[in-house]
Amino acid sequence: MAFQETPVFIPVDFMQEFLQESFAQVGCSLEESERVTRRLIGANLRGHESHGVARMPRYVEWVQKGTLIPNQKIRLIQENEVLSILDGGHGFGQSIGEQTIQQGVEKALKHGVSVTALRNSGHLGRIGDWAELAAESKVASLHMVNVRGSLLVAPFGGVDRRGSTSPFCCGIPRPDEPPVILDFATSLVAEGKALVALRGGTPLPEGAIIGPDGKLGNDPLPLYGEIPEDRYPDPNVGPGALTGFGLHKGAGLNFFMEMFAGALTGSGTSAGIQDTSLRRFCNGMLSVYFSLDYFHSDDWFAQEVRNYIDFYKDSRPAEPDGEVLIPGEVELRLMKERMNTGLPLSQTSWKDLTQKAEKIGVDRKLVDQAGNFFIPN
Ligand code: NAD
Repeated sequence: MAFQETPVFIPVDFMQEFLQESFAQVGCSLEESERVTRRLIGANLRGHESHGVARMPRYVEWVQKGTLIPNQKIRLIQENEVLSILDGGHGFGQSIGEQTIQQGVEKALKHGVSVTALRNSGHLGRIGDWAELAAESKVASLHMVNVRGSLLVAPFGGVDRRGSTSPFCCGIPRPDEPPVILDFATSLVAEGKALVALRGGTPLPEGAIIGPDGKLGNDPLPLYGEIPEDRYPDPNVGPGALTGFGLHKGAGLNFFMEMFAGALTGSGTSAGIQDTSLRRFCNGMLSVYFSLDYFHSDDWFAQEVRNYIDFYKDSRPAEPDGEVLIPGEVELRLMKERMNTGLPLSQTSWKDLTQKAEKIGVDRKLVDQAGNFFIPN
């Protein structure tokens, strides 16, 4: 996890108070400010800087523009015993996501399986959060997500942007151990990783960006274009694009995210970008839930999972000092480490946060008269 700049380490408690204050400043209730901050910090703790605290300036700008609305509740459009079709009303995804999962879990626990189809949610952040939340109730889940209004990804064999970073996630609970969570963008990297690289964090892998001339590279700048001094980088305006993961197969999965999370949920696909009224950023999410108690009345599933994980991890490592990891293992290890070290952030990223907080009137001395920004001990 090599940063381009020497990172600063921000203690988790300090970050929690500081960001909470920032979200409260733009109208989020105390509960929502706490929840949004906790989820963003959770992403940093697990190594996903892209979906962590670096999002604050963008969320604040969206609230100020009126495209993201504090303190929203999900609206039920239609339901039966096992299905809920929900509208997130462009509320903070951290709140809308939590309410959605609660609906899905409640029905799955009663009927064995359930589906939630969520449209028009604000940014749902790290999708792994939602599989983890379901797992707390002994519910396994699958989540397909698209991002209408955020056209960033070129299709396999194409140069022009036609899709979003559309994450896929699934997870299973385990008794007495953390759940197993697979969670990734169907682009080679999530856009936030390009933003983090642009702001001095971990560089992008080669081939993550395709230029307007079809050339592959890892410089994030073509995604953002020239960035005016007074503006936060906007990935919607550059001449280049992100590439998909997994060649034609990843591109096919990315396509189906648009079908399930965009078209089926009613949230709309990336093609909506042609219509100015549909350019507002939103996540659609189709989720399927399985209550484990309905599938197995004894501990057979848990035992089978345990056996398979042992078998899987016992594969001889390809590199002499390598190791085979299961999905989610990297995140769990990092979380343990970062709870002690604090959150590593590039200085540019921390400066972005402190400057935005100052601008919205967070009552802390974060930038001195010489323009130096504050680093907590
Ligand atoms: P990534 O490329 O880091 O892949 C993460 C997944 O791969 C995890 O499940 C992790 O456990 C697994 N993994 C990583 N290294 C591994 C190893 N050595 N062995 C085995 N498994 C390994 O993730 P990403 O594509 O950059 O996505 C980052 C985050 O961005 C995700 O949390 C995703 O939900 C989020 N995202 C959200 C949106 C949105 O609109 N809300 C859009 C895109 C991405």
